Amino acid sequence: MPYIALDSGHGKTTPGKRSFDGSLMEYEFNHDVTDRIKNHLERHGVKVLLTSPNSNVDPILTERCRRANSAKVDLFVSIHANAAGTDWNSAHGWEIYVCANTGKQAQLAKQIHEASIPYLGLQDRGIKTSEFAVLAGTSMPAVLIEHAFYTNREECALLCTNDFREKCAAADAKGILSYFGIKWIDEDALKIVPTPLPELTSTNDILESLGIMGIVPDKKGVSDIIALEPQGRLYWLCRKVLKYIRDNRIDARPEKPVTLYTDENDVAYAIGPDDGCLKIVSDKKGILDDMIDNPKGAIYWVATNAVNYIRQRI
Ligand SMILES: [Zn+2]
Repeated sequence: MPYIALDSGHGKTTPGKRSFDGSLMEYEFNHDVTDRIKNHLERHGVKVLLTSPNSNVDPILTERCRRANSAKVDLFVSIHANAAGTDWNSAHGWEIYVCANTGKQAQLAKQIHEASIPYLGLQDRGIKTSEFAVLAGTSMPAVLIEHAFYTNREECALLCTNDFREKCAAADAKGILSYFGIKWIDEDALKIVPTPLPELTSTNDILESLGIMGIVPDKKGVSDIIALEPQGRLYWLCRKVLKYIRDNRIDARPEKPVTLYTDENDVAYAIGPDDGCLKIVSDKKGILDDMIDNPKGAIYWVATNAVNYIRQRI
């Protein structure tokens, strides 16, 4: 698993490092984008180290390097926004720094550059070299990204927007992932849209659902027992069985032959907490003991039917 250090430039206490009108604090942009990159990398299975996890603190540069070096990360990526001059000015665009534009760090810079320039729509100021302390002091391939200028009115406004920050984070993450040959997957593609399944809680609804499944068409007046003791263990078991079936999306499929459980110990084991394969019952008022004490009783019978139902369909 690749291991990446993300280095958010500056902190709340760092002097300067803000737009002339105070609308953008550089540390805030850097930490926000870093958190977004972290999310993208982690959902692709990449491990992340934050060299500056608390935005209220600005660790000195040698400490940032030390953290990355001692964790033996594979790459170091420093996140910044750019500044020039002493008043609003026209300097603008995107650039990335490496210590020397050779070897693995050059390859990393190239990948991030390729992911960023067409996507962000900023002027390409290119891949530059500098002996910045975090680049010179780290012992793995390292880059420092300057995403845009907060000393430029238009780009400062852009740096404040959620949309641009998300684009910066996605571009940086794509570049890092492509360095490792990991294919980018859009976040939306990972979101599973669950089928809404309101939990059934009334006795009648639960019994009807279990009845339709063929689990409770009725032995020794199961529904009568539940009606008499609506929070009793039989009701609780029925509810757990139904919840298990619904949570696991067990639906009608062509039946395949399975060995049916008929021994109470096997049934208790199958639905029970002791590494039982279904994990339905973990244990209300000694339900397993009740099944073993009363092996032809209503609880045992419901459990057997439930286990058989589930085994025939998964
Ligand atoms: Zn900076």
